[in-house]
Amino acid sequence: MMKTIGLIGGMSWESSAVYYALINRMVRERLGGYHSAACVMVSVDFAAIQAHQARGEWTQAGEKLASAAGALHRAGADCVVLCTNTMHKVADAVQSAAPIPFIHIADATAQAIQHAGLSRVGLLGTRFTMDEDFYKGRLTATHGLTVLLPEADGREMVNRVIFDELVHGVIREGSRRDYLTQIDALAERGAEGVILGCTEIGLLVKAEHTALPLFDTTAIHAGAAVDFALG
Ligand code: GLU
Repeated sequence: MMKTIGLIGGMSWESSAVYYALINRMVRERLGGYHSAACVMVSVDFAAIQAHQARGEWTQAGEKLASAAGALHRAGADCVVLCTNTMHKVADAVQSAAPIPFIHIADATAQAIQHAGLSRVGLLGTRFTMDEDFYKGRLTATHGLTVLLPEADGREMVNRVIFDELVHGVIREGSRRDYLTQIDALAERGAEGVILGCTEIGLLVKAEHTALPLFDTTAIHAGAAVDFALG
């Protein structure tokens, strides 16, 4: 029996829409016929979450997302998928809010990297994801990966494009070039692949744009959710 996937979306909805399309497409590919995913999404107002991020109010943000996880559970979800890398900073609060499995985006990503036989990867994401330890620390300490980051000015650009463009659905050719420059620089420093560690980056940079293997966290996380649902 297919399990029900619970999604916490809205961060931003531009990427939540991609999650929704991907999980349905993957279920159809695997089961065929008229099959689609059994799923529930609680989609938050990103303005409130973004304001908490900017002010460093992680406890309050965690409480909002914990309440979303509780709502998913009450709505019949069998797992929780938090559709953003950044907000995994409060993964513990979300996970403890509902007695159902929490599918951690960094664990799913690390498994995909190991499955590809790689161990040294670049990471692009928001400044929270790149600068703090909750995400890359999990990749290194729990999964034994080596993680490379862009230099300070590159990190600043990557973060700015996420918040000024991608979460608003704005895709600019110049920003794509800037991202590809960062990806090339990471490869020169020895990265064997690059994690698109923000769920909107896949809207801008795709596999066809570079020869380096890309690990799109949105697609990987959606795939992990479908694996869970289909058992
Ligand atoms: N979707 C983004 C991520 O994966 C950024 C938006 C947010 O700050 O949650 O990190």
